[in-house]
Amino acid sequence: MNLFAVIILIALVSEFAINILADVLNLRKLKTDLPESLAGYHDQNSYRKSQEYLRVNTRFGWLTSTFSLALILVFWFLGGFNVLDQIIRNYNLGPVSSGVLFIGILVAGKALIFLPFSIYDTFVIEEAFGFNKTSVKVFITDTVKGIVLAVGIGGPLLAVILLFFERTGPYAWIVCWITVVIFMLIMQFLVPSVIMPLFNTFEPIEEGDLKKSLMEYAASIAFPLTHVFRMDGSKRSSKSNAFFTGFGKSKRIVLYDTLIEQHTVPELVGVLAHEMGHFKLNHIKKNLVIAILQSGFMFYILSLCLSRKGLFDAFYMEHVSVYAGLVFFSMLFTPVDFFSHILMNMYSRKNEYEADRFAVITTQDNRSIKEALIKLSVNNLGNLFPHPFYVLLNYSHPPLMDRIYRIEKTIP
Ligand SMILES: [Zn+2]
Repeated sequence: MNLFAVIILIALVSEFAINILADVLNLRKLKTDLPESLAGYHDQNSYRKSQEYLRVNTRFGWLTSTFSLALILVFWFLGGFNVLDQIIRNYNLGPVSSGVLFIGILVAGKALIFLPFSIYDTFVIEEAFGFNKTSVKVFITDTVKGIVLAVGIGGPLLAVILLFFERTGPYAWIVCWITVVIFMLIMQFLVPSVIMPLFNTFEPIEEGDLKKSLMEYAASIAFPLTHVFRMDGSKRSSKSNAFFTGFGKSKRIVLYDTLIEQHTVPELVGVLAHEMGHFKLNHIKKNLVIAILQSGFMFYILSLCLSRKGLFDAFYMEHVSVYAGLVFFSMLFTPVDFFSHILMNMYSRKNEYEADRFAVITTQDNRSIKEALIKLSVNNLGNLFPHPFYVLLNYSHPPLMDRIYRIEKTIP
């Protein structure tokens, strides 16, 4: 076993073990009693249900991640990558087509193997807790649309990256980086206007109290609000949410129909204020800049690794190729990914506090924002007392109780 193999094996196994440890700590913390302040929102029954939801999801996560790790290790040590490569090489398709086929088969194979897990999650777990609204027909059409998008968008992008690495020598990483940045910018416009409407219906919210209040609030912070949409989130789940997407003319605020049903107008203004806070505080732009820098760093490190024969020996490969290098690099990158994910989550939690603060100050109504957050968490059976270590690894939003504490302290 060479050094690359040792590093990747340790990285995969330790990532798995660290996540299990975080889960165990998180489950232990479930013993906490329902706090007085939430007594009006949760009864003992619904509180117990939220704890059970976490237990069931955690156990299911263990099953999925154990299976996933075992699958990778078995495929790796049985020389699966080389067997697949040899089969594809028999067709003499050239490096780009072979690469798209090689990565395509790995991705499709993994998706197919994990399809039953996704079915179980939707139709058994989410169903048991009363969340699932996805019909079999919607599930199937979602899956088909996902495949079409992956092939239609992911395929050509991958082909272009492989082509550049084959043709542009030492500058390949810069050319690929620029390509991916252009792709990311185009997607900022395409996702809200073209891709998301493939999966959901977006309707401008109708005239009335809600629209009037949202418009008045937007005018008060000089935000040119043109698009507020109601999304039929209830098509898949009774869970609720709201989000902000896009730039320029394509920017829009989306409220799930389930959110509109479950909240009062002042609470919805609070939710909208939080989302606008993200925009006004430039969180969306900053996130895009970070994503751009991250991809540049990744392509640079990738370019350093692609020529290392040891990386290919680690996976028993007879031939060195850019496409296989891409796959192995993604595994070698696991520790960097792991730590950058933690840093990004920390940064995201900081932004969430800032957006909450923005919402409180601009609406001068911390009570409605607090109510909205509590209801959201209670309705979605969120975990009220996650373990700090679990939060460190997994939470892009601060735990509910921490947000409430800060909101109460913020003077409007
Ligand atoms: Zn937010």
